[in-house]
Amino acid sequence: MLTSEIHRRFLDFFAQRDHTIVPSASLISDDPSLLFTIAGMVPWVPYLTGVVPAPYPRVADVQKCIRTLDIEEVGKTPRHGTFFQMLGNWSFGDYFKAEAIRYAWDLLLTPESAGGLGFDEKDLWFTVYEEDDEAYNEWLKVGASPARIQRLGKDTNYWSTGQPGPAGPCSEIFFDRGPAYGVDGGPATDDDRYVEIWNLVFMQYLIKDVKSKYDFTVVGELPQKNIDTGAGLERIAFIKQGVGNFYEIDQVRPVLDRAAEIAGKRYGANHEDDVRLRVVSDHVRSSLMLIGDGVTPSNDGRGYILRRLLRRTVRAMRLMGVDTAVFPELFTASRDAMKGAYPEVETDFARISHAAYAEEETFLRTLAGGTTILDTAVADTKAAGKTQLSGDTAFLLHDTWGFPIDLTLEIADEAGLKVDRAAFDTLMQEQRQRAKADAKAKKGQIADLTVYSQFRTLGETVFTGYTDFTTESEVLG
Ligand code: ATP
Ligand code: MG
Ligand code: MG
Ligand code: MG
Repeated sequence: MLTSEIHRRFLDFFAQRDHTIVPSASLISDDPSLLFTIAGMVPWVPYLTGVVPAPYPRVADVQKCIRTLDIEEVGKTPRHGTFFQMLGNWSFGDYFKAEAIRYAWDLLLTPESAGGLGFDEKDLWFTVYEEDDEAYNEWLKVGASPARIQRLGKDTNYWSTGQPGPAGPCSEIFFDRGPAYGVDGGPATDDDRYVEIWNLVFMQYLIKDVKSKYDFTVVGELPQKNIDTGAGLERIAFIKQGVGNFYEIDQVRPVLDRAAEIAGKRYGANHEDDVRLRVVSDHVRSSLMLIGDGVTPSNDGRGYILRRLLRRTVRAMRLMGVDTAVFPELFTASRDAMKGAYPEVETDFARISHAAYAEEETFLRTLAGGTTILDTAVADTKAAGKTQLSGDTAFLLHDTWGFPIDLTLEIADEAGLKVDRAAFDTLMQEQRQRAKADAKAKKGQIADLTVYSQFRTLGETVFTGYTDFTTESEVLG
């Protein structure tokens, strides 16, 4: 089943159940405190808080998302992309748990021939918050086997923002890839074997006295209870397409194949190269979509994230022995895989490709320049009888030439040298402090890069979280 077909079936299913279908919002969220749209819920926050009345009681959409939080997972797990599409259905004070569970069950289990996604009930597991008997019973009612319903704690199955305001239990649906992928104990035990496909959040309670994400007092039931769901389109696609992972679906694989061809690698032959090929396929697609939504490479904010994705791509290709320009081939491959769902990547391709190709050329020059400096430093270090490249050199390369530290480490290693990492880290730390002080001065701009967070200040209600509080700067270093 093509990804576009799953996309269509999802929207048709909810349209038939009186949901208003809305187009995806931009990857650049309206919220100045969020770098990107990181989940389907982001555009709906005003309606979910009830502060702004929803113009429709129920909606469904396919939302483009970027999660740089997951960048280190990309290529290593089967299920994480930096760009992905979240299928979502929402109820703003309309239907609640029983219907949300029934809809998810029906869409997943209705046979393909009858318009559903044709999953086998035996492959699915369901988690509920340990005290949420209502959700547990709804799963039983629709026909889930009690052997495959797990009750879990607040850390995985409770949604709150970490602030006073709305909160509530959630219930997640997992696909079991089978014993070849891990032990037989359900989603609580293994996230490689059990792939999370859909998260149903039940916004049910008003909370106060919030000491931590998990320590708060429930004031009572919310006057307007909401449903917020998110399902990973690419995850469903990789399962339905019977391929091994996210990067092998029809919207991503052509880039992976093109990269393998250019590098003269056979996908599947070597683990490290496989990870690199998957990283390339993911990052090229994310960059295509980001530039499509108006981001351009730069040294801070959104542009910096894009720059990192582009440079990581160049670097992954370089590690496979390719040091010439490859974006013209990779971006056209990604465009062709994505234009069915997003025709604008084709109509706007001249602009998109210009930005990407220019960045590749600049970075290739940077690499060439930095490599000369590094070679000299290596020679000097050796001549002085030392075994360690100074932190200053590594920092200079990073700061002036945009040379990633892992590249410095690797080239030094090839020359039989270590790098004074502690000194480098101290210099980086000092630089970060300076940048922080700077950012404070520039108040009001994309200030706090907390992922999932700082949704919006609406009256008294401050949304500052969803499920994770790792900051972008921690992730990106
Ligand atoms: P995981 O635990 O696998 O990282 P999550 O709990 O972080 O997923 P949610 O925040 O609940 O994910 O998002 C809802 C759905 O979006 C998930 O059930 C999954 O199907 C999908 N999803 C989340 N992150 C990604 C990603 N990086 N790439 C692809 N799909 C994703
Ligand atoms: Mg996650
Ligand atoms: Mg999860
Ligand atoms: Mg989840």
